[in-house]
Amino acid sequence: MNGLLSTRTGWVDRIAEEYGRGRPLAMLFDYDGTLTPIVRHPSLARLTSDTRQRLQELVDLPEVKVGVISGRALSDVKTLVGLEGVYYAGSGGLELDLLGTDERFPDTDAIGKLIDGIQDQLVDLMRKFPGTWIEKKPGAISIHFRGLLPLAATCFRFEAAALLSMLEELRFRVVSEAIEVTPADGWDKGTAVESILTHMENSLGSPPLAVYFGDAANDADGMVIVGHKGGMSIGIGPDAPEVAEEQLADPLELGANLDKLTTRLKTRWEISPKTAEKSLRVENELTVNNSISSSAAAEVDAGLLLLDPDGVSRKKLANELEKLGWRVWQSETPEEATQLLIRDGNKIHVAMVDLQLPGLQGARTLMEFGQSHPHLIRCFMSADVSPYTAAAFARLSSLPLFVKPLFADDLNPLFRTLLKQENPKRSLAEADSSPASEVNYDSLPKHLSIRKRAPGDRLPGVGSRSGGSSTRQVDNR
Ligand SMILES: [Mg+2]
Repeated sequence: MNGLLSTRTGWVDRIAEEYGRGRPLAMLFDYDGTLTPIVRHPSLARLTSDTRQRLQELVDLPEVKVGVISGRALSDVKTLVGLEGVYYAGSGGLELDLLGTDERFPDTDAIGKLIDGIQDQLVDLMRKFPGTWIEKKPGAISIHFRGLLPLAATCFRFEAAALLSMLEELRFRVVSEAIEVTPADGWDKGTAVESILTHMENSLGSPPLAVYFGDAANDADGMVIVGHKGGMSIGIGPDAPEVAEEQLADPLELGANLDKLTTRLKTRWEISPKTAEKSLRVENELTVNNSISSSAAAEVDAGLLLLDPDGVSRKKLANELEKLGWRVWQSETPEEATQLLIRDGNKIHVAMVDLQLPGLQGARTLMEFGQSHPHLIRCFMSADVSPYTAAAFARLSSLPLFVKPLFADDLNPLFRTLLKQENPKRSLAEADSSPASEVNYDSLPKHLSIRKRAPGDRLPGVGSRSGGSSTRQVDNR
């Protein structure tokens, strides 16, 4: 961040795109200066109804988790935000509420003992600067000076820093026109973010994309942790930490961008009028299904949705798969396939869609399937794929493309292997966000000619059988 305010919204695009590909989200907000403007007294920093509504809308979205991480006492920030289903951290990370599970830094009396050593000097200093006052919190104190004029505030900060520096066991930083004092070896917003993200990941079943919004020095610890986990940080206002990747002018601009973001996130669930509630139910059921043991995964009735307007090849392949223990849903049109997925999505693990549907219906349908059912294993199939078509397809999608005619003997071990992989949720369906090479092709039966393409390698020989099998994947990194 270069210190100049900018209003880039690339972060909105990235969040929306990753969520669209099935990545859950962790949206983490500081309170003062981020969700609310800095005001004359902390007690006046109330959340507006619009901001509360924005947070509520995020909480209500499937696979989106929300946390508020504040320097205020935990009870204070929980009362001010007043929303259920939100993770809270108070006292700069010394107190946590992980959706009902409370955690607290073991030695919250430490700060009192430490401050005792400079108690008299601190009282004398504050008498020199009328308008300063101390806020005691569990495990921390804040020395507020927002009532001072700028010159007096600068003098006070200088003298207070000199005094507090006498105790190495203290950590102090200027945060929102106050000096936040905590034990040097205590928890902070970074440890709070780690605890919250761990809890969220356990709840979601996969690591979320973490995004941290903060305005002051004590937010840097949280931003660093988020950065280590591949997330991003958005600074609010001119005093935001340098580590923030992008910056917004103030809480108002944050609100406007959250409105844009939420609108885009909601579109992931607009595959049908029944949408979010239905999809969430299906997803939860899939999660339960996915929790069964790996060995059992191959033995249970695995479901496959086959969208192919060619009735002859569709029925032939369906019959073959059913003989191998698959339950197959057949459909001739995208509309019919969508209805089947909405109705029986909790039983369907794999979707195969013919790319040769008129227009871009095949590609669009499979993309929508991935948005509404992120854990679905998805692949395209097509007859007479030319190298030119394959190359064009590869530029547009990283999903696998199999060339017809297809044989159940080839597909069965492939899909069952994917279902048995260590993380059952990991599948070809995630190839949009992950390199295809991360799928464990090495575990596939040797006779399959599925292969990874090395840089500079020619496309696999589309249209010819290989290794006694006709099931070939056009690698498309
Ligand atoms: Mg703040």
